[in-house]
Amino acid sequence: MKLILLGAPGAGKGTQAEVISEKYNIPTISTGNIIRAALKNGTQMGLKAKAYIDSGRLVPDDVVIGIIKERLAEDDCQNGFILDGFPRTIPQAEALDSMNVSIDAALSLEVSDREIVKRMSGRRVCEKCGASYHTEYKKPKTEGICDGCGAPLIIRKDDEPDTVLDRLDIYHKQTEPLKSYYKNQGKLITVEGQPKVEDTTKLVLDTLSEI
Ligand code: ADP
Ligand code: ZN
Repeated sequence: MKLILLGAPGAGKGTQAEVISEKYNIPTISTGNIIRAALKNGTQMGLKAKAYIDSGRLVPDDVVIGIIKERLAEDDCQNGFILDGFPRTIPQAEALDSMNVSIDAALSLEVSDREIVKRMSGRRVCEKCGASYHTEYKKPKTEGICDGCGAPLIIRKDDEPDTVLDRLDIYHKQTEPLKSYYKNQGKLITVEGQPKVEDTTKLVLDTLSEI
């Protein structure tokens, strides 16, 4: 299965991607995680992206398109993949179409702005592996520590309250138009985010089993 996950920042794309990835045995490709890893490793791409990512703005299209092109060419993507956080603009979606990957569906996780702001304030991420937690909805076994690798959990700079509102604005202006884009291709599926993560997961898996 070749799947795109759409939704506002903090809508829970990453969490759902983990479950889908396991069930269908396909990799998740998160442009956010790839960029953050590059930033941490001090690569040139990371340096170029830093100012954008820290302020919550989108990294230029050519940079992320390059990342995706390289990543999709790898062996593990040949049976399918989940795109988490790409495309985020119409030009990115057009670039993906021109790579001749035939996407099965674009699943949009619908969550209200009010709920997004609430969720983002509690989000914590692992400094080392990038795993995502929440102080209320997805607690680690030990407070402040990653279940997977034992590293400390931190608040991402772009999850600070002011930046979150800017990111939501960017989402509505630049990313939300992708819903019409994929609707016109007959590929859009929408799932309402539920208060409980496992309820959203059930809806997502049920919906995917029908395509
Ligand atoms: P979230 O999980 O909150 O949706 P991500 O980890 O996907 O956020 O992305 C964090 C940041 O990385 C974005 O605010 C943006 O700066 C950059 N980024 C990630 N994916 C893209 C993309 N497809 N296009 C442009 N910028 C991106
Ligand atoms: Zn970790």
